[in-house]
Amino acid sequence: MIIVPFTPMLHEVAASDLDITNIVSPIRRLLRRVTFFHGEIEAIDLEHRRVGVSHGHESHCHALPYDHLMLALGSTTNFFDIPGLADCAFTMKSLSDAIALRNHLIANLEEADYACGAPRAPLLNFVVAGGGFAGVETIAAMNDFLREAVRFFPHLREEILRITLVSSGKIILPELGEKLGIYAQRKLSEQQVDIRLNCKVVAVTGHDVTLSDGTTLTTNTLVWTAGISPHALLNTLPCQKAKGRVLVNEYLEVPEWPGVWALGDCAVVPDHTTGGSHPPTAQHALREGRVAAQNILAVVGGGRKKLFIYSTIGLLAPIGKRTGVANILGVNFSGFLAWWLWRTIYLLKVPRFEKKVLVALDWPLDVLFSKDLVHFRTIRPHTPPPVGELIQLGPIPGSGESPEQCAKLTSQAAPSRPILHGTRQSILARHTSRRFLFGTHPIVYTVILPADPVLF
Ligand SMILES: Cc1cc2nc3c(=O)[nH]c(=O)nc-3n(C[C@H](O)[C@H](O)[C@H](O)COP(=O)(O)OP(=O)(O)OC[C@H]3O[C@@H](n4cnc5c(N)ncnc54)[C@H](O)[C@@H]3O)c2cc1C
Repeated sequence: MIIVPFTPMLHEVAASDLDITNIVSPIRRLLRRVTFFHGEIEAIDLEHRRVGVSHGHESHCHALPYDHLMLALGSTTNFFDIPGLADCAFTMKSLSDAIALRNHLIANLEEADYACGAPRAPLLNFVVAGGGFAGVETIAAMNDFLREAVRFFPHLREEILRITLVSSGKIILPELGEKLGIYAQRKLSEQQVDIRLNCKVVAVTGHDVTLSDGTTLTTNTLVWTAGISPHALLNTLPCQKAKGRVLVNEYLEVPEWPGVWALGDCAVVPDHTTGGSHPPTAQHALREGRVAAQNILAVVGGGRKKLFIYSTIGLLAPIGKRTGVANILGVNFSGFLAWWLWRTIYLLKVPRFEKKVLVALDWPLDVLFSKDLVHFRTIRPHTPPPVGELIQLGPIPGSGESPEQCAKLTSQAAPSRPILHGTRQSILARHTSRRFLFGTHPIVYTVILPADPVLF
């Protein structure tokens, strides 16, 4: 079933603070009295009042007519045409992004623990680009996760982790003001995060991230949260736009096109109190949705339309180690209180009571237990290899063997086939359901798989 992720908590999934399904809700459970059709909008024809939707395994198309059309397509990541960036960077917009990042962090630690193949440095250097909310929340959560997880990898030490935040601004979290921005920088620096201000990513090649200050960071983990673009479909629409987003009036109507409405990240909604426009945030999008729905009812039923009037109540961000920064109704909060406010307020905002309960139960548990290192992989499972294919290979890489020796041993065992290796404990953990038998430490057992290695 199609799911709706609660984006403000994506970093909590990436950093294993929350179970992956706790922040998503199946859309059909949210929309009980709505006819729902799942498809990808391919084209919008405002002239003939219809939308082209592809749908199903074969992506067959439907032309859906409408009386009223609400444009709520959100935004996409902007890679600013930086060479190599779109191919190499992780993004943070969907649940699959968060799961992919979490898997990648665990895979890096697993590989670095033995350092028998790839060089270690790129595996242990982690870079997040973007000093806004998404970037700061992501780096803070990653930092907490990696520093806690590293304790379970006997050949790694916390000191060899390099975690870097790159921000083009002179301060991080500029929306919260200078005071809280500086506080957040200080707290992150105390947690060993290297913050590069007034600095941009200018190129990404292989494992090298080149910055505008001339330095290069060697990493295979670059998380890009430094820009959003309007949805590409909006380019095709013959209506007025500002910086690619649809211009609406204070009723959220697209003025030249009766029956067409827009809201959220894909719309520019005028804010009469400031003379500008409302920011693209979830708190605005949610309220715009309610007003737009009431206005459509008013048009259909002949009532009075409502103006969209809203001022941001507060801005909050967790910055790691149970600290946070917040500005609520103009009052600044920082430290544990701000972190606690963030958790409490966002808990109340999680859609559906059932999910609220799950999140509320999950959070206190992270005080009692260490973070979950389960590696979720979405590769289609293959038939498990027969036990006969389990071969004894040699001493544990990382405990005596040089990387060259390990690589040699590995290639001797199966030159053309993928290999999954690890200690008795780690392989056992991955394959408990397969009932493999293992010998004693320090023998390494290598499982040779017929195709892609399947982890879970
Ligand atoms: C990591 C992160 C953290 C954030 N934290 C906060 C926060 O703490 N507080 C806050 O207020 N805001 C936060 N935001 C911003 C907030 O998530 C957005 O402003 C909000 O989701 C915008 O709502 P929307 O409905 O316009 O777009 P979205 O929520 O992006 O929804 C757009 C929907 O359209 C669908 N769609 C797109 N293209 C098509 C197509 N062709 N066919 C069919 N469907 C399509 C998408 O799948 C998606 O479901 C955060 C955003 C991110 C990425």
